[in-house]
Order: sequence, then structure tokens, then C-alpha cells
Amino acid sequence: MRTYHTAQLRELDAKHYMHPFTDHKGMRENGARIITGAENIYIYDSDGNKYLDAMSGLWCVNIGYGRTELAEVAKLQMEQLPYYNSFFQTAQLPAVELAEALAEIAPTQMNRTFFGCSGSDGNDTVVRLVRYFWEIQGQENRNIIISRNNAYHGSTMAGASLGGMKAMHAQGGLPIANIEHIDQPYFYAEGGDLSLEEFGLQRAQALEQRILEVRPDRVAAFIAEPIQGAGGVIIPPDNYWPEINRICKKYDVLLCADEVICGFGRTGEWFGSDTFNIEADVMTLAKGLSSGYQTIGAVMVADKITAVLDSKGGEFAHGYTYSGHPVACAVALRNIQILRDEQIIERARDNTMDYFQSRVSALGEHPLVGEARGTGFLGGLELVADKDTKQKFDEDGGAGTVCRKMCLNNGLVMRSVGDIMVICPPLIITREQIDEFYHLAWASLDQSLASLKIAE
Ligand SMILES: *Cc1c(COP(=O)(O)O)cnc(C)c1O
Repeated sequence: MRTYHTAQLRELDAKHYMHPFTDHKGMRENGARIITGAENIYIYDSDGNKYLDAMSGLWCVNIGYGRTELAEVAKLQMEQLPYYNSFFQTAQLPAVELAEALAEIAPTQMNRTFFGCSGSDGNDTVVRLVRYFWEIQGQENRNIIISRNNAYHGSTMAGASLGGMKAMHAQGGLPIANIEHIDQPYFYAEGGDLSLEEFGLQRAQALEQRILEVRPDRVAAFIAEPIQGAGGVIIPPDNYWPEINRICKKYDVLLCADEVICGFGRTGEWFGSDTFNIEADVMTLAKGLSSGYQTIGAVMVADKITAVLDSKGGEFAHGYTYSGHPVACAVALRNIQILRDEQIIERARDNTMDYFQSRVSALGEHPLVGEARGTGFLGGLELVADKDTKQKFDEDGGAGTVCRKMCLNNGLVMRSVGDIMVICPPLIITREQIDEFYHLAWASLDQSLASLKIAE
């Protein structure tokens, strides 16, 4: 085994490597954690520390680490055909096979797929595609896309514009034109005196109001995550999605489900759209599509849209050099086959997801946790100073940062979004490992509480 000199690696990293979503000053002071290996649901760093990865990398390693079949398939594909493009009426086998496999597992109206390299560029494709769809039908002004505050749709210009992250909009002059944002269905923080039902309806009907304000013939599409992930695992009330379906249908607004996190089993079905009965016209896929083993994203498109593209003709002037990359597609296909053949989603739904949710709820008993919520293998813990008033420790997400550090010290990866701890384990996590997660999380919460009380 290779030995790593952490200090040296940190120095080189600080000198040469510009990290994403990073405070560069803080990073220089502390140095990076260097991850060197992974197996099952555990990752290892250059000092030999082991961590239970309750974040599936970054919401993506759904089948877990160490599946050598995916390495095999990548090797074989590289030997056979490492690269060819899909421009100019060309295709290669893995992309065709993957597109077919996706049509099989997706909701019935979805039968065609456009490939890219990530969730972000997928959402760029969504913006261009839905606007193009209306343009070729003579509705050039139908170009407004409605999204939600605190949504996450990626980090490209269009992705960050669709997203509703204030900190991202504040940098670089975003959002781009003709993107609108409405309020999110975040009951714990914004529910006020409303019942869950009243709130769900109100937040869905905010879409109808906005459509009427900007005029229905200007609205091309509405985009949303079935469950907001990076926004803090925000689960809409049960009546939210049915009402959104109704509104989109009524005003002929295309419904785009960003399935980048919810797709590929995260909520106990293949897609979040299955779990919530979302009648989507477009779905963005990435992350779990390859379980993170290759960089690949995709946009699935309903028959209603492809029928228009097929009948109108003309070129949709959009694509990437690596659209339908054969190695990425071959790996994603194998990933889907593994999920299907080993019935990983069904087994998680039947055997472990409820148990996971019961353990997440139990973490809600901790004095530091104001609310514990979740669906499938997604969980969120709201850290508060006072459970009754929902008072936070500070407004800067300081408690989340403290808790994340405590988790790491204890060998657990749990991410913080402000003061929300988010949890997203690989679908293969066992009951015993869920118990292990629970005990590490509880101990980390205890230590966080002690540290925060001293700081107060
Ligand atoms: C991660 C994410 C994206 C962006 O995907 P990248 O592969 O990071 O570009 C888009 N939408 C959602 C819902 C995501 O969670």
C-alpha cells in the first residue's frame, strides 16, 4: 500500500488546487482532508482514519463504494471505444442502451434522454430545451421559468439562476433574465400558524399566483426538486405536489422535476416523481445515475415534447462534446443493472428505510434537535438552542459547523446546511450500520451541545 505524507499533500493542495464551494482563506489556514480510499459505506483518509459516509459522497454513491464491476465495464469500454461523439447523426452502443434502460424505469410518459456530464449542465439543457420547445411553436415570449427560493439546481450560470440560493445570486450578477422564484414548502421554518395542509396548499398556490402575475402565456416551465436536498432536506406536505400538478396542467406550463438527488432509489422508488406522483414533462438526472462512479448527467423528456421536436424539424443547437460519453454511459448502465438485478431499491424500501427513519426520529429526541425529518434514505436535523421557540444559536450556521466537526472527529460524515444536518446514506446501508450511524450521530450531538453551551 502506498503511504501518504499528509502535510506534503496539504501543502501542494493549498498551492495548486482551487476547490469548489470553498472559503479560500479558511482553507489555507486549516488544510484539506485527503481521502484516499473507500469501501462499502466507509471512506478512508491519508492518515488512515475511517469514516462512516452518511452523505454517499455528495448525495451520489447510491450503490456504495468498491463495486469492481463498474471498474471492469469502464476498462472494457475504454479498450473497445474510449470516445466517440453523438453529433451529426452518430451514436454508440452504450448511450443507446442506457437511453433504453432509462425509458424502462422512468415514468411511462418519459421515453427519450439527452445526455450531459452533470446535474448543472443538465439544467442548462432544461432551460434551453423548454424555451426552444415554445419557440418552435411560435411562442417566443413564452420564456419565463419559475423556480423556488432555496432550491438547488447546480452551479453553472443557468443552474445557479434556477436555484434560489441567495449567496450564489449575490456573486456574478445572477439570476439570468426571465427566471422567477416563489417561496418553498419549508414548514418547520416558514409554516407560522398555518396547519401543514393549509401551508402546503398556500405554497403550491404561490405558483398559480406568479403565473397569473407574469401572465400565463409568458410561462414556459416550473422546475423543482421533489425533495429539496442541498436546501436542507425539505419535504413538502402531502398536498403540495398534487396541487402543483393541477396548476401546471391548467396553464399548460411544463413541469420539470430535478431528480438529481431523488432519482435512483433515494426515496424508495426509482424516482421522486414516483413517490410523489409528480406528472413531469422533463426530468434532470445525475448523481445516482452512475452512483458517482463516472461524471454523467441526463435530461429525460416526455413524449409530449419529443412529438413536437420530431414533427417540426430544425436543429436544436445544443450539445456537449461528451454528450453520451461511451465510458460514462457504460458505467451508468451497469449501475442501473446492479440496482435492478440486486433489487437494491426494493430491499431498502422493504427492510431498512423505515428503520433508518425511526433512528432519524430518535435523534429528534436530542436536546439540540428542534426537528428530525426524512423520507426514504434522506434525513434532516434542525439544530436549535431552544426547541420550543425554534431559536437558533446564531444566524450564520455556526451550530452546523460545530456539529460537522464533531462528527468528523468521531468518524462520521454528516453535512451541514446552515444549522441543518443532512443525511443521505448509500442505499446498501444495513440495520447494524444504521445503528452505528445513530450512535455516532448522538455522541456528536452531545459533544456539539456541550461545546455550544460553553461558547454561549
Ligand atoms: C447536485 C445537484 C445539481 C447539480 O449537479 P452537479 O452534478 O453538481 O452539476 C442539480 N440539481 C440538484 C437537485 C442537485 O442536488
